[in-house]
Amino acid sequence: VDLSNQIAAGEVIERPASVVKELVENSIDAGATQIDVRIQDAGLSLVQVQDNGSGIEAEDVPTAFLRHATSKILTTRDLFNVHSLGFRGEALASIAAVAKVQLETATESGIGTKVAVEGGQMEEPQTVAVRPGTQIKVQSLFYNTPARLKYVKSQQTELAKIVDILNRLALANPQIAFTLRNDNNLMLKTAGHNDLQQTLAGIYGVNVAKAMVGIEAEDLDFKVTGYTSLPDTTRASRNYLSLMINGRYIKNYQLTKALIAGYGSKLMVGRYPVAVLDIQMDPLLVDVNVHPTKQEVRLSKEDQLGDLIEQAVRQRFAQQNL
Ligand code: ADP
Ligand code: MG
Repeated sequence: VDLSNQIAAGEVIERPASVVKELVENSIDAGATQIDVRIQDAGLSLVQVQDNGSGIEAEDVPTAFLRHATSKILTTRDLFNVHSLGFRGEALASIAAVAKVQLETATESGIGTKVAVEGGQMEEPQTVAVRPGTQIKVQSLFYNTPARLKYVKSQQTELAKIVDILNRLALANPQIAFTLRNDNNLMLKTAGHNDLQQTLAGIYGVNVAKAMVGIEAEDLDFKVTGYTSLPDTTRASRNYLSLMINGRYIKNYQLTKALIAGYGSKLMVGRYPVAVLDIQMDPLLVDVNVHPTKQEVRLSKEDQLGDLIEQAVRQRFAQQNL
């Protein structure tokens, strides 16, 4: 069990940012309206996520750290099928296999529970008085997998990846108030008032948010809404361009290209807009046969959607007469 946990951990938990992503997604799933993330040394010493979500019932705490029996890896051969299994129920188990984890959680009605898991071994859970919600502390990431630790890049790179992932989760969830602190520096704070432009301001600053225009477009298959920056408020990196499908952050090269193409010659070569677009569509048009932890997705009717986005952006700037 320990070995298969470590193997799965390598798939799900590649770096500190993966821990942040998995924990924050759990907090989102738990219906939290406030999520506070604290990291030290770019997440290698500490990733702490605190939420005010549903919490976990005392009796369910041990199960939360178990990998689902259906996804047990029994043979080397099965390893190659990992990609198609999906990772339902594997995140906490994977994290606990490669780090020291402390959990404190309480539901609205129940008493609180506190437990520590180290090297995949769980201590006896204890009863504690805590507010409803969940706090998970992940310390000494990859302390028992030095090979993995070697792949982790500089702290600066890792920190950038954490900020990036949290930015996108915040943009996908403007109804949630997020904070991110790195060694006590406040890196991100969003209001959680379900206002996308306010969330953009919390992430990129008020001035950038003010220099963005609304985008709306619809056809029989897709509905696109969001904001994109005026041509003169651009960045030298594509990183400030966020795409979501049905509220879930994705990566897609062709759609990114379409958004940029909408600017035509208004965008200087090598410059990219700050943008966030949410695409509502039938989930059946999303190809699910992709690695669950990779965000690159393929779509049927990708060309049609690309055209819709490109036209919407082009027309928006034609209106503005910029
Ligand atoms: P998954 O999210 O795929 O179910 P995880 O390993 O990420 O698997 O989490 C295991 C389980 O632990 C979740 O299904 C959920 O029941 C519980 N859990 C984890 N984090 C939280 C949280 N922040 N709040 C409430 N429940 C949580
Ligand atoms: Mg999860």
